[in-house]
Amino acid sequence: MKHGTDYRVLPFSEDTAAVLITGNHRLLLAPAGTARRLESGVDQLLPEERQAWERLRATAGFADEANRSRLAGSALSDGSDFAVNVNLTNVCNLACTYCFAEGGDYGRITEAMGEHSIAWIFDFIEKNAAPGQRVRFEFFGGEPLANFAVIEKICERARGIRERDGTEFVHRISTNLTLMPQGIEELFRAYRFIVSVSIDGGREVQDANRPSKNGKGSYDRIIRNLRRLREACGDGITLVARMTIATAEPCLKDSVLDLWELDLFDYFQIYPGVYPVETGTKVPIALTLGDRKLSEPQGIQYINHFLQPGIVEQFKDFLVHYPRLFDPGNRFKGVLEYERTVQMVTEGATALAFCSGGRTYYTHSPDGSISPCHRLVGDESFDVGTGAEGVTREHPEWRRTVDEHPVCGACWARYLCGGGCRQENHVATGDVNELNDESCQYQLMLAEEVLKMLARSQAGYRGQSRDRYDDLFVSCGRPVVPNGRPALDASTDFGAFQVLC
Ligand code: SF4
Ligand code: SF4
Repeated sequence: MKHGTDYRVLPFSEDTAAVLITGNHRLLLAPAGTARRLESGVDQLLPEERQAWERLRATAGFADEANRSRLAGSALSDGSDFAVNVNLTNVCNLACTYCFAEGGDYGRITEAMGEHSIAWIFDFIEKNAAPGQRVRFEFFGGEPLANFAVIEKICERARGIRERDGTEFVHRISTNLTLMPQGIEELFRAYRFIVSVSIDGGREVQDANRPSKNGKGSYDRIIRNLRRLREACGDGITLVARMTIATAEPCLKDSVLDLWELDLFDYFQIYPGVYPVETGTKVPIALTLGDRKLSEPQGIQYINHFLQPGIVEQFKDFLVHYPRLFDPGNRFKGVLEYERTVQMVTEGATALAFCSGGRTYYTHSPDGSISPCHRLVGDESFDVGTGAEGVTREHPEWRRTVDEHPVCGACWARYLCGGGCRQENHVATGDVNELNDESCQYQLMLAEEVLKMLARSQAGYRGQSRDRYDDLFVSCGRPVVPNGRPALDASTDFGAFQVLC
């Protein structure tokens, strides 16, 4: 077994390190000295440590490669719902400063989705969802609430199908929640919506990052609408704060706490902002701020905010504080990406891909195009079909596994990460399967810091139920399945090593 590929040593205090076993996601604790030797290679362990390691190999299934075989034997429909991202409109009433980097439609989608698309979407589901597979709608835009009538019609039609043949539907929307069309409370309550609200922190941060097109702040309006929804729908809806972090001040922890203290959100998602810097790559993207074009198309290189000096420390500091957010007096239940990683380790599960894009997740747009990724809408070369015809071309480039990838195949985090975002790869390298180094570094940092947090955590945190994460479409629907690793015999003595999960 090789360090960095088959296991990873992660020191997290002066005297202890965590060790992740890649093949089955067991997490161990080891004294610092043992961990240092293990980092140099299994053959560097002292004789008694080596014996304990061999006992672990034999009884904890290190050599089983549970994750590899689970991935190799998986079907495309395993581990995630069938999901349709409904791109309802390109219209948005906010002028977020970093919107260009979130992959808008680059100008091609110019209309709102019409009712004729609804029949195409349901035909697509009927042809492509596996029998009995749950179906999820991701209502998306622009601002999807600007086309509320189509959302209502899709929900109604889904209800008819559920009553007829029992198909289960999940309804989720990504919204800035500045619009409250008539009937929104009733609809969200009736269909138990998961409402993912774009909000970056307290008033100061939100108003600077996400102003209205008229220049006014959006914070007060969003908070008012959140309260209205929570009051009208109670626990019948799930509210998710979708934060983009793009400023050094206030720090990450304070921005999260500003929202946490409102006690409105069940879950958080925390994304690094991505900034453009001049020069380098040849991806022609025009920078815009709302309706204003800031620059003509030019070569842009992106910087991931969480990899900037000082921000990495903020991120680490936040993860030290993180377990304290689980307070019985607050409805907070977790940061989605962190908890999905924790689940793979505590329960023994493997990611079958980075996301479900081009597998069981497709975006339908107003122009009738079908794209494997919502951020690639507008680039015809990525389209895989049309509303009228369904899927018209094979797209194996979206289905390559981590084990088939020349770089990911040797990465210790491969069955947690699943191989990186293909759209981010494309932006950096022009090839969906050639790695974006910054995105990869971020995934590694995320995995490392979450594992260290888990290693420091109390048994109560590790033992929490994480069943709900299958519902919540974490990381563009990352497909995750139990890896079937053997149960541990608690009576075995593993010497210097303590098996945590
Ligand atoms: S993208 Fe990076 S972190 Fe993810 S599996 Fe590949 S090499 Fe590992
Ligand atoms: S994770 Fe997948 S679906 Fe999401 S943006 Fe990246 S490629 Fe697209």
